Amino acid sequence: MTMLNVGRPTQPQTAVPVAHASLTGARGLLQDEALIFELGGWDKTGVDLEPAALDASDLAGLTREAPIGLPGLSEPEAMRHYVRLSQKNHAIDLALYPLGSCTMKHNPRLNEKMARLPGFADLHPLAPISTAQGALQLMDELAHWLKTMTAMPAVALSPKAGAHGELCGLLTIKAAHEAKGQGHRRLVLVPTSAHGTNPATAAFVGYDVAEIAQTEDGRVDLADLEAKLTPDVAAIMVTNPNTCGLFERDVIEIGRLTHAVGAYFYCDGANFNAIVGRVRPGDLGVDAMHINLHKTFSTPHGGGGPGAGPVVLSEALAPYAPAPWVVSGPDGFKLVEETIDEAAAGFGRMVAFQGQMGMFVRAYAYMLSHGTDGLRQVAEDAVLNANYVKARLSGVMSPAFPDGPCMHEALFDDSWLEGTDITTLDFAKAMIDEGFHPMTMYFPLVVHGAMLIEPTETESKQELDRFCDALIALAHAAKAGDVDRFKGAPYLAPLRRLDETLAARKPKLTWRPEPTTVAPAPLAAE
Ligand SMILES: *Cc1c(COP(=O)(O)O)cnc(C)c1O
Repeated sequence: MTMLNVGRPTQPQTAVPVAHASLTGARGLLQDEALIFELGGWDKTGVDLEPAALDASDLAGLTREAPIGLPGLSEPEAMRHYVRLSQKNHAIDLALYPLGSCTMKHNPRLNEKMARLPGFADLHPLAPISTAQGALQLMDELAHWLKTMTAMPAVALSPKAGAHGELCGLLTIKAAHEAKGQGHRRLVLVPTSAHGTNPATAAFVGYDVAEIAQTEDGRVDLADLEAKLTPDVAAIMVTNPNTCGLFERDVIEIGRLTHAVGAYFYCDGANFNAIVGRVRPGDLGVDAMHINLHKTFSTPHGGGGPGAGPVVLSEALAPYAPAPWVVSGPDGFKLVEETIDEAAAGFGRMVAFQGQMGMFVRAYAYMLSHGTDGLRQVAEDAVLNANYVKARLSGVMSPAFPDGPCMHEALFDDSWLEGTDITTLDFAKAMIDEGFHPMTMYFPLVVHGAMLIEPTETESKQELDRFCDALIALAHAAKAGDVDRFKGAPYLAPLRRLDETLAARKPKLTWRPEPTTVAPAPLAAE
């Protein structure tokens, strides 16, 4: 049988992306789109509203004198507006999303279906406990599996993100020290490669932060740690696997040294994805660790949310955990809401209610659908995929730690770009033209011009090859002196290079009509 090759060409058709400006601002079938306030007007809304029959006295005399100025769109206009905007976003449902440290894996639709079951989705946080038994049972079982997977006796489910979990962990540690008359301990030790949230959290709780040096091979420098472990130290915060994508080989010794001076071992567990089912942090001497449910147990979390960061706690810290937590008895499940009676030592609470219920459901669905063997395979495949990327790219790019395998992410520095006049940022921007979201750049700070790639376990070999082929082709272009391709990139994005500093420092958060804009007609007109 003859097979016709009718597939799409895998190589770009033009050697250099053409910077071609259209007359409309659109790019091919990608529509340019104005702000909704610029598009809409009340003369063409899809609904007819009765003029409001309100007596001004109902509003304490506070009546509007000018038009409200809200945009009005017909249904097809509203639909197109949001679909056009959505097409300007990258998403894990479009392509590989290699942001290191972010674990952008596929989010199974099963999770979404479960989270939308009315018994979970429509539950009010103040519903009577007798009507919320199923939800409480799910929280109890989720807590059970988190404790089982980490070999830790307690978990605080309520923190709403990884960073919030760090705050919960350090507040628990602070409460424990104070209860033991050790409230004078002022210092938290953090490795130089740490995620920025670690020192920020310690400072937020009121601790002073000191850095622990890193060895040549990207791990905690034990000698430096030992020198800095004084009686002033309240806790260390260590990420494992660390942000260089490496397992802290001396983790047991790190825990032993820390406990020897009466300090606690906080582990940043954002990278649990790499070891779930293989290693139990409780066996490593960890006292507290947050688990990013949105990363390891998959909830869509691009664009800053939502998150859930439950914190598992050791025997020593469990009495100081915040409320609420679920207990079961002969009358079913209940939430312990007050730390006054049942855990007088607890430091209070992190959130108004019980935490992110929708994410608890997603994480639980993910655990049950994977099972013990499946979760172990998550870690194994995540590590295998990262090592595949590391091996394929090491021919052209320079791995920051070339010796030995990595864990779930492959880290490169920019030494391979030396002499090209092309920076990590330029290279990342050129990736956009090739249809890939850039990797994490310039983090961790300990590696010059860092490029941190986390493919996750949900990418197939074909996708990994497509990605690696594109990066290898770009790397060759960089070394061949094709500087324009990089310095001008992205050529094909809706917007080109933005002044990101200006955008962060002086964001435009309000919209004002251009002087020429016609004010919308008043609501109650005609
Ligand atoms: C993602 C991450 C965090 C912060 O988690 P959020 O849920 O974004 O607050 C902390 N540490 C590491 C290593 C991370 O990767």
